[in-house]
Amino acid sequence: MTHHDVLIVGAGHGGAQAAIALRQNKFAGTIAVIGDERELPYERPPLSKDYLAGDKPFERILIRPPAFWAEREIAMLTGQKVVSVDPEAHAVTTDGGATLTYSHLIWATGGAARRLSCAGHDLAGVHTVRTRADADRMMGELPSVTRVVVIGGGYIGLEAAAVLAKFGKQVTVLEALDRVLARVAGEPLSRFYEAEHRAHGVTVRLNEQVVGLEGETRVTGVRLADGEFVPADMVIVGIGIVPAVEPLLAAGAAGGNGVLVDEQCRTSLPDVYAVGDCALHSNRFAEGGVIRLESVQNANDQATVAVKTILGQDVSYEAVPWFWSNQYDLKLQTVGLSIGHDAMVVRGEPAARSFSVIYLRGGRVIALDCVNATKDYVQGRRLVTEGLSPDPAQLADHAIPLKEIAG
Ligand SMILES: Cc1cc2nc3c(=O)[nH]c(=O)nc-3n(C[C@H](O)[C@H](O)[C@H](O)COP(=O)(O)OP(=O)(O)OC[C@H]3O[C@@H](n4cnc5c(N)ncnc54)[C@H](O)[C@@H]3O)c2cc1C
Repeated sequence: MTHHDVLIVGAGHGGAQAAIALRQNKFAGTIAVIGDERELPYERPPLSKDYLAGDKPFERILIRPPAFWAEREIAMLTGQKVVSVDPEAHAVTTDGGATLTYSHLIWATGGAARRLSCAGHDLAGVHTVRTRADADRMMGELPSVTRVVVIGGGYIGLEAAAVLAKFGKQVTVLEALDRVLARVAGEPLSRFYEAEHRAHGVTVRLNEQVVGLEGETRVTGVRLADGEFVPADMVIVGIGIVPAVEPLLAAGAAGGNGVLVDEQCRTSLPDVYAVGDCALHSNRFAEGGVIRLESVQNANDQATVAVKTILGQDVSYEAVPWFWSNQYDLKLQTVGLSIGHDAMVVRGEPAARSFSVIYLRGGRVIALDCVNATKDYVQGRRLVTEGLSPDPAQLADHAIPLKEIAG
């Protein structure tokens, strides 16, 4: 049985950042990171962007070069999955039967791509995009693929659609709701992206319910609720994630759709912290209740808070959420959380392919979505962090820089 002063489960963004932050903060104890993927920690966002497009090799998306971990005496236990946690014994067991004990445990397991439950969901040619292995499998099949159906018009599905359209594939996006990005953005942004995809040759179909995937061994198409059959040589399912928290919940941690943490990222189990996509937390930028955020920013910032708490520093998680998405030549940058907005201002002209959507609640700015508008993103940040209540007419006036409005 091996003991580690800090044991980190999950070798993704949050897990890597936790280990890095421990050493940056001069932690001299033993650290191990257990990850069920074979790879050393790598950046996940490029999997639906430049890695999928073949523009960046895997080595360039590693979070740190391989030598970094050994030099800092961080044990990287890759290819091993934690299957149970014993909070009393301060121990975890892995799928290989090993038991490791800890003084502090940081749970940074992210989530697994949600799968369809309909018939045919497991046919060959049906893919999700969560890991390097997923992306590699997809890329390996692409040369023999002409028609691709993407199920789900969220960021990952749309990014993958953009890359495949650029490759000359015939891409159809099937979205169950009446607009793409409906859960994360306002209608002006949804309509803009629908139009962009259509202009790039992608068929975007809204209000479409998938009832089955068909094919003998390999998928040949998608059956819709009205009986229509949409032919496909490949199907990409982008319908969100299921947080990977079963071992923690089974050990008694509070939670459900994620594991519940306080402002210091502590779970309800002693000396167990959780960070990143799997952590259900109250966020001062979200409207009431608890939320799970799926972003690199959140994983990194929560990891830093967990580490500083372990080191006895007095910190709370209160970082402003930010996010980005690249589709075609469009760079979307988001700050704040738009969920729960009661008003919107469009600043700039979507037709000019450079504009921002500013979201307000009770007169206060709560979020910005900036498309090819980095200046707005940078200057508008203060509007969100300070919860300012500017005149909407001024916000809409592109001639007035947001920094002037933010004061
Ligand atoms: C295709 C794609 C594109 C994205 N694009 C963006 C973007 O543009 N901007 C942005 O901000 N965010 C983006 N995200 C989201 C971002 O990648 C995640 O929010 C981030 O990776 C979360 O970090 P994490 O550490 O919580 O989880 P992850 O990075 O997912 O790491 C968790 C790791 O833990 C492993 N694990 C799970 N269970 C166990 C276990 N029991 N034992 C051992 N290991 C385990 C997982 O396999 C995984 O390797 C994207 C995600 C994907 C998939």
